[in-house]
Amino acid sequence: MQTFTSWLPIPADSDFSLYNLPFGIFHTGDGKARAGIAIGDHIVDLATAADAGLFGKRRFFKKIFGQNTLNDFIALGKPVTSRIRRKVQDWLTRAEAPENAARLLADRHQATMLLPVRVGNYTDFYSSIEHATNVGKMFRPDNPLLPNWRWLPVGYHGRASSVVVSGTPIRRPWGQIVPKGQESPVFAPSRQLDFELEMAFVIGKDSALGEPVSIDKAEDHIFGLALFNDWSARDIQRWEYVPLGPFLGKNFGSSMSPWIVPLEALKPFRVKSPKQIPAPLSYLQHTARIGQNYDISLEVSVKTGKINGETVISRSNTKYLYWSMAQQLAHHTVNGCNVCAGDLMASGTISGPQAGSYGSMLELSWGGQRPVELNDGSSRTFLADGDTVTMRAVAERGGIRVGFGEVSGMILPPFELQQ
Ligand code: MN
Repeated sequence: MQTFTSWLPIPADSDFSLYNLPFGIFHTGDGKARAGIAIGDHIVDLATAADAGLFGKRRFFKKIFGQNTLNDFIALGKPVTSRIRRKVQDWLTRAEAPENAARLLADRHQATMLLPVRVGNYTDFYSSIEHATNVGKMFRPDNPLLPNWRWLPVGYHGRASSVVVSGTPIRRPWGQIVPKGQESPVFAPSRQLDFELEMAFVIGKDSALGEPVSIDKAEDHIFGLALFNDWSARDIQRWEYVPLGPFLGKNFGSSMSPWIVPLEALKPFRVKSPKQIPAPLSYLQHTARIGQNYDISLEVSVKTGKINGETVISRSNTKYLYWSMAQQLAHHTVNGCNVCAGDLMASGTISGPQAGSYGSMLELSWGGQRPVELNDGSSRTFLADGDTVTMRAVAERGGIRVGFGEVSGMILPPFELQQ
């Protein structure tokens, strides 16, 4: 791996190193949304860089980067998006600071981040065997892993309209809940509000309706990855999910980190997937002899309103995922369903093998039976109003650090309904 140095001071522990260069949409208080690349404590303002002629085709790229989403940029395809990223990398690694440096850089800590893509479609998978087994044990003790699970990446179509950027508060949802020991539901705010630690990928290339994307070509359609919190109301979910799957227990909000890490930045962190038994059907079998999974460390913290309120409650890793992103996409399209640039596909909760690596409160508190202790002396089985859940992710190897920043959201009390 080539090593880079920059004229710009970049903190050694920054998520946003010269090897990362993730894309996002930001503004700096003037309300003018534009595209940027995160670098250390700064953002390279791509609209201004385009105007300065850094990418050629000045007017074209100024328009592309002067929008409030990355969709049009992503849809230009990887040859273009990779070239832009390399141009920025070249600019940052020049021998001396360019004279337009101050004009092209924004202070990242002063910037407001927006949702980076207009999400056309959102699909959520269920790709962690540890998570599926844990949840199965609680919902169906006699039959934890259903017969289809090892044969296909189980998924459902989620709701794109309620995907929000990190920092957006989430209201505790109302819904139908069946109290313990009863048969009929009551209408009440959820008492089992939960997070789901997930990694999402953003589609970068359309596929045609009627034409499957083969597993070998799947990664060509993936622009990049973002951290994802698929908020879940377990009590609502438990009552409603039979027979058609998740609905109102899931679609009241899903939070996404603002920086999309391009797939190419994650190449050094490829690792083998867990062995799949039985061997999947041929359309789900990887033919390329490279690792299909990624070694990205994940953590979840909960912060209460009190002092010393932040506690890391889980540490997991994307390498545990049983089904790879390529398998998810190959399966999603095998019937001819098309995907579009800007679509979002999330992994499902990423739990590891140990109790401290579970990716939801449902598992960490084992269905509410074992309260999770927090640093401020309080404990949780599920989330309380005022709690802030923050997820972080970073890949590190041989001095190369590629991080995702964070996805964070605070729980607001339920909407005041006139009952
Ligand atoms: Mn989920």
